[in-house]
Amino acid sequence: MVALTRNLLEEQRRQGVQNVRLNPNVLERLEKIAPEAKTGRQPTGLDALAQRAAQCVKCNLHKTRTHVVFGEGNPNARLMFVGEAPGEEEDVQGRPFVGRAGQLLTRIIEAMGLSRDEVYIANILKCRPPGNRGPLPEEVACCIPYLTEQIEIIQPRIICALGAYAAQTLLGSREGIKKLRGKFYDYRGIKLMPTFHPSACLRNPGTKKYVWEDMKQVRAEYAKTKPKI
Ligand code: SF4
Repeated sequence: MVALTRNLLEEQRRQGVQNVRLNPNVLERLEKIAPEAKTGRQPTGLDALAQRAAQCVKCNLHKTRTHVVFGEGNPNARLMFVGEAPGEEEDVQGRPFVGRAGQLLTRIIEAMGLSRDEVYIANILKCRPPGNRGPLPEEVACCIPYLTEQIEIIQPRIICALGAYAAQTLLGSREGIKKLRGKFYDYRGIKLMPTFHPSACLRNPGTKKYVWEDMKQVRAEYAKTKPKI
């Protein structure tokens, strides 16, 4: 609406209508409320979705979050990692997988010959459950449409589900991660590989070798995909 008002006034000026002035103080206040007033462009795609999520109050987690952790990475990524929910550090920074488990994920991605900038990283929940408790079914029901839309926009060729919760939620399964990991599944036409969550590797270093086996399969599948642009 702000951009529309501004464009309308400018159009009137171009057409020679005199005495049409936009008070700079008013404009400055409007631009704080709606940054798109500066450019006149409405955000689209992932940006628009991120803006919606940033204001989301659909479940009680909005009361305790510091930041909404929408996700980050390459919007044209061929490989997407999906975890469970933001932890304490992620909540503070507003970025996914930046704590100890996130640093391990970064090393895993780099060991695959990729970088965080080449992939996309997100979670099932966009806000941190207090005390890092598990997500509640009603929270997932409220939040999953954001992830579904993210995946629809990004259209990754491969999804790596990190941990039992992400794998079970995306696959609609109740199997444990030990049974689910190690093979590809179909998620709406996208290949999905479940593996252990990096925090499980930190708790139990013996799981690292299984993650690496799974990532070798993901890397081989990734090599078959073509860049999208
Ligand atoms: S967890 Fe998801 S549904 Fe709940 S408030 Fe945050 S963004 Fe909204």
